[in-house]
Amino acid sequence: LSIWNHVPAGPPDPILGITEAFKADKDPRKINLGVGAYRDENGKPYVLPSVKAAEDRIYNAKADKEYLPITGLGELNKLAAKLAYGAESAPLLEGRIASTQSISGTGALRIGGAFLARHYPGVKTIYLPVPSWGNHTPLFRDSGLEVKGYRYLDKKTIGLDFAGLKEDLAAAPEKSIVLLHACAHNPTGVDPTPEQWAEISDIVKVSIQVSVSNARLFPFFDFAYQGFASGDTTRDAFALRYFVSQGHNIALAQSFAKNMGLYGERVGLFSVTTSSPEEKARVDSQIKILVRPLYSNPPLHGARIASTILADSLLSAQWEKEVKGMADRIISMRNELYNHLTHDLKTPGEWGHIKSQIGMFSFTGLTTPQAKALGEKAHIYMTSEGRISMAGLNSHNIKYFADSVDAAVR
Ligand code: PMP
Repeated sequence: LSIWNHVPAGPPDPILGITEAFKADKDPRKINLGVGAYRDENGKPYVLPSVKAAEDRIYNAKADKEYLPITGLGELNKLAAKLAYGAESAPLLEGRIASTQSISGTGALRIGGAFLARHYPGVKTIYLPVPSWGNHTPLFRDSGLEVKGYRYLDKKTIGLDFAGLKEDLAAAPEKSIVLLHACAHNPTGVDPTPEQWAEISDIVKVSIQVSVSNARLFPFFDFAYQGFASGDTTRDAFALRYFVSQGHNIALAQSFAKNMGLYGERVGLFSVTTSSPEEKARVDSQIKILVRPLYSNPPLHGARIASTILADSLLSAQWEKEVKGMADRIISMRNELYNHLTHDLKTPGEWGHIKSQIGMFSFTGLTTPQAKALGEKAHIYMTSEGRISMAGLNSHNIKYFADSVDAAVR
């Protein structure tokens, strides 16, 4: 008998499995709306011109390939904190944000989960929105936290179940952890309004606030889409900055996969606000103790790209324009799709959510059998929950997509 005889075959990854099916499909009309990676007007991957410019500079500087420190490129840690928290942020100005470069957003969440599992003094349960990004549950479980859910999507309106959300967060045990998507919620595309964020902040805080460390729940922000929601990195930082301004201590996972198109370079950051520079130094030391036995230190090239862009005001301004270009193209696809379905085809159902949803994804409301039928009959691939990546649509394929959706729901 072989050593691994007892190992059962696991299921394929629900999202990356879609790409496999798409690749195997030989039909020229095929469309991949599964994976959340930006595509240009011709359906091609997009390397941002600001990224190419940064790479030219890095190449010309003939820099070496030495190891980074355990917590990564110090310059990037500073610049990325400024991008997320804002230049005027109190914890930033007071030098009390502990942070580490990470293996993109996934690695930031995983290091964060491990840090909380080891050092968080409260309840080691993290509450995720239902639904959430599919990788959140296994990732936090594997990092040693217990995972539970709070209501988020109202399936009837395909909008926010705000009453359910408030009820569930208010009922969560004192000192639990709550995961919040900072903007462009994946998979729903449904975000709270600024007023709703303010209410959420109040629920997360203790009712009679004694001190920040006494907040009722501990908020962990997943910020994978800064700039992708509105096209403006500052506007998209509203929720995070509002919480920090209200005195919350927070944890944050950042990713440059989407907004700089650095997917495979794996550039991200985990950070946590602390109460003093002295506490920050202690937290930093424990983050290092977590990272060293996992992967020693993070990759270099993508970190250099991101920090080269963020350090240079001209290049940053160019990058912000390119982010806006991506967000705007997605928003125009939302409008076009809505118009096709509602006005041209008079497709049964209400499609307003396609326009009102935010970010890379639309939760279409298509059922699992409809999503499956679209794959088999129309060669259009999406997640089984009916989530589509808006970035996979363009002026060449959107009419075919709308026609296929129309056929699937009739
Ligand atoms: N969080 C959310 C909500 C995401 O959608 C993603 C990417 N799909 C990530 C985190 C992590 O992505 P990455 O590791 O590529 O930065």
